[in-house]
Amino acid sequence: EKPLLDVRNLKTYFHTENGVVPSVDGVSFHINKGEVIAIVGESGCGKSVTSYSVMGLVGQPGKIEGGEILFEEKDLTKLSNGQMRTLRGNEISMIFQEPLTSLNPLFTVGFQISEVIMLHEKVSKKIAKQKTVEMINKVGIPNASKIYYSFPHQLSGGMRQRIMIAIALACNPKLLIADEPTTALDVTIQAQILQLMKDLRQELDTSILLITHDLGVVAEMVDRVIVMYAGQVVEEGNVFKLFENPKHPYTKGLMDSTPKIHERKEELYSIKGTVPTPMNMPTGCRFYPRCEFAMEKCKEKAPELLEVKQGYHVRCWLHEEGEVNLDEEFNRKP
Ligand code: SF4
Ligand code: MG
Repeated sequence: EKPLLDVRNLKTYFHTENGVVPSVDGVSFHINKGEVIAIVGESGCGKSVTSYSVMGLVGQPGKIEGGEILFEEKDLTKLSNGQMRTLRGNEISMIFQEPLTSLNPLFTVGFQISEVIMLHEKVSKKIAKQKTVEMINKVGIPNASKIYYSFPHQLSGGMRQRIMIAIALACNPKLLIADEPTTALDVTIQAQILQLMKDLRQELDTSILLITHDLGVVAEMVDRVIVMYAGQVVEEGNVFKLFENPKHPYTKGLMDSTPKIHERKEELYSIKGTVPTPMNMPTGCRFYPRCEFAMEKCKEKAPELLEVKQGYHVRCWLHEEGEVNLDEEFNRKP
């Protein structure tokens, strides 16, 4: 079966006064029908620009310079703005970090959901209202027929995010893109929202692309993880395998710096240094200046994304001749 979304060698560059910024620099990945994947990385790694590219929302001075974004085998980079708008309202939906800015403060949340339903299903106002109340229920808000008449500012952050999810799912999309959907919420609410998305995904059979800087939130929710660094994919594979044994030193660093829910650490590890800028992009491996495993070769030559086992990819010289366990490698260091 063909993937729902197949991104191939995507290049999205920004043309700034200081030069060209290759925010997304040859990224490939796919999402199967009903699959949930996450793109993880620090801010500036290109994960959001990747999602904006898929949605056709890259604005000036950004531009898709190369590659293909195949959605059900049609190349989205070739569609007009109008065609993309239709696709966004019907087949691809999005939720963002701060729902207050995406909801219209002047209309009730019920009206905003029912508008999408009316547009999408061409049903009467009355039916749309019924369906809206059902939808509000489905996203776990009690008293749905009362909440229908609430304005966004009358609801809590967690409730607003639930409403955004209701709006995003009202058109029954094939793909839901969620860019840091829980970052603005406190930890308990975060967990509830992620659980909700997980439940709805099973019920509605929607594929989900989750964009996050927080490796902690993906563990329970996704099938596959893509880790991005400096505009490139550095590791990609099954979520359990990745958590069990991260293969890229950057992924390991991210993981060591992520607090575990049931574990209290005195001090969390943090990856030294910062994400390189295009003006000081290392010539060899882009992670070289921050890498604790770096070898001579890494400085000179950029590694390719290698398949280290079936369906599992890593961009790192350490695994050139077969996969290496970083923990063992790490302990050998003085
Ligand atoms: Fe570190 Fe070298 Fe691997 Fe880059 S290629 S992540 S510098 S070990
Ligand atoms: Mg972002």
